[in-house]
Amino acid sequence: MESVSVSLCWRSYWLESGVGPCGVAGILDVVMHAPAHIVKPHAADIEDTVAYVIGLQDSHGNWPSKAGPRRKNPLASENTLIQWCHGAPGILTLLSTSILSCSTLEFSSELENSLVSALVRGASLTHSRGLLRKGPGLCHGVGGTATVLFQAADALASQPEEQRACLRRALHLLQCYAELRGGRHFAKPDRPWSLYEGVAGAAAALTEALERVEGLLSQGAEGMGMPRGHPSGLLGSGDLDLPARA
Ligand SMILES: [Zn+2]
Repeated sequence: MESVSVSLCWRSYWLESGVGPCGVAGILDVVMHAPAHIVKPHAADIEDTVAYVIGLQDSHGNWPSKAGPRRKNPLASENTLIQWCHGAPGILTLLSTSILSCSTLEFSSELENSLVSALVRGASLTHSRGLLRKGPGLCHGVGGTATVLFQAADALASQPEEQRACLRRALHLLQCYAELRGGRHFAKPDRPWSLYEGVAGAAAALTEALERVEGLLSQGAEGMGMPRGHPSGLLGSGDLDLPARA
């Protein structure tokens, strides 16, 4: 039976909560937002674990919901879900944070190249499957897929073509939502006004889109990046950023 063998093996998270933001990817993302002097001693373990997550990406660019024996479950082994809470979009958040942490945590160039490659593939899939119909929120809606594409764009500053592609894709998804909303194209979520299921999440993503477009109009291509002066992300993911201690 397949097992999880990796430096940071939170068994219950790998097997029960999963690979995505409710599990391993979420833990790693939060850890990397901690002050550098706290995280740095553990950089090798983090690098090994991030590399393991990258290795789970399938031939389509998606990720399984769970690692280890649970992948034998037919429902878990088909990597069909592509939304922030399961699949590529949630992993894009981790990959983007990891790329932005490469310098601080002194990750290897091999890992950095793998991160960029996995992020580019995952971003393409997230765009092609990202017009989700479960509602417009951040968790399993178009607000979430657009937001992680903005985040990917911030992390791909060294790849200008890929960066622009991610920005175009995020804006495209939100334009589709804006044109289709109000009809029967989107299911009504259980909490239709909420941040993670409903229109509050779409409003957050649209606000970011407006900021980026306004930046583009006023400053040219440079104005499309990081409108708030820090990398994009789902609300709250960057709130733990503290000044690095020398
Ligand atoms: Zn969800």
